[in-house]
Amino acid sequence: MHEWYEDGLKFTCQQCGNCCTGPEGAVWFDDSEGKAMAKQLGIEVGTFYELYAHKIGSRWSLRENEIKGKFDCVFLDRTTKNPSCKLYGSRPLQCRTWPFWKENLESPEAWARAKRETPCAGMDSGKFVPIEEIRIQRDQK
Ligand code: SF4
Repeated sequence: MHEWYEDGLKFTCQQCGNCCTGPEGAVWFDDSEGKAMAKQLGIEVGTFYELYAHKIGSRWSLRENEIKGKFDCVFLDRTTKNPSCKLYGSRPLQCRTWPFWKENLESPEAWARAKRETPCAGMDSGKFVPIEEIRIQRDQK
């Protein structure tokens, strides 16, 4: 794959919560992530799945709450000054690696689209992220 971002990209999260909401979607997680989230909540794994997860096809996703036509991740907390993640410490890989997802890195246009449509003010601003770090995040899954 041609890496148009070989000189690195800038990214610093501005904590707006936009990447935790939007059109109906999926927040995928695997068994070990499910266990970690249940542990952080102090509940049984079975209870965690019952309350906060649902299956889409053959995979598990976190549930979403529909709020004014948008679908918030069930763990997005809007009661804080800035929207925040209630499970930040054990958030799934999908959340940890945003915005360096393969589909966002496919082309400069894909990157610009993700930035505009989310919208994510953190992309192209703040800290410089070198190509080596981008590759690690991109190839996590
Ligand atoms: S959309 Fe971007 S700036 Fe906003 S919370 Fe997500 S990563 Fe941070």
